[in-house]
Amino acid sequence: MYAAIEAGGTKFVCGYGKGPEELEISAEIRTRSPRETMAEVAAFFAGRKLKRAGIACFGPLQISKGKISKLTPKIEWRGHGIRATVEKMLDCEAVLDTDVNGAAMGEKMWGAAQESDNFVYVTVGTGIGGGVMVNGRLVHGLLHPEIGHMRIRRFMGDRFPGNCPVHGDCLEGLAAGPAIAARWGVEKAELLPENHLGWAMEAHYLGQMVVNLACTYSPEILILGGGISRRRGMLAMVRQSAAQEMGQYAPLPRILAPGLGARAGVLGALALARFTSR
Ligand SMILES: [Zn+2]
Repeated sequence: MYAAIEAGGTKFVCGYGKGPEELEISAEIRTRSPRETMAEVAAFFAGRKLKRAGIACFGPLQISKGKISKLTPKIEWRGHGIRATVEKMLDCEAVLDTDVNGAAMGEKMWGAAQESDNFVYVTVGTGIGGGVMVNGRLVHGLLHPEIGHMRIRRFMGDRFPGNCPVHGDCLEGLAAGPAIAARWGVEKAELLPENHLGWAMEAHYLGQMVVNLACTYSPEILILGGGISRRRGMLAMVRQSAAQEMGQYAPLPRILAPGLGARAGVLGALALARFTSR
């Protein structure tokens, strides 16, 4: 059995098993201090014999050190060595990666990217994040890709300053759910009506993201997940906008919805445990 820990900013979900057909999942564990949260995680796994653990974690992370970065907005978790904590609690080796790299690995093994070794997974919801696979391996590098914070050109007439606390008008600051809600004065982005200009603007921003990713990584597939991407017609609009932005210059990746549903986070962590090396 492998252990999977989806470590999110608001909730943790744990599981053990081998794959989508064989997976026992915990109840949601509310994210509090590391001590309180990890005690509940330990209780779920108590008494199980585990081969290896995968942790798909909110970031930013210092992956090589197995730690959550000191830059995380979650103050109590700054610098926490989550990999060592899990290894001690579960008495097995653990692999730590970003939640989005986990999701990418899950899509590779069981979802929409099974046939591709070169693809990008992006989620657009309360934030924007992405995981990148090149030649069958997840990309880490200096930190890990931070796709949500790429810089893009503005939609003509968009005067919203952007709400990324670091960059203001980076991609996430202009196009994540909270940015849409703040720009148009609605409680949630999902409440914008069907034909609102806001959706054309959103497709424009995500289309630029697709072109930037296509120009840098040349992926075969781009999986677009998260609450905003799930909106009816959104993927088609992004395809169209990306084609316009790219012109005839280079081929665009196939833009697909994720293949894994509600359990994507914990399955991503399981895929990290089973299929990645440290
Ligand atoms: Zn930013």
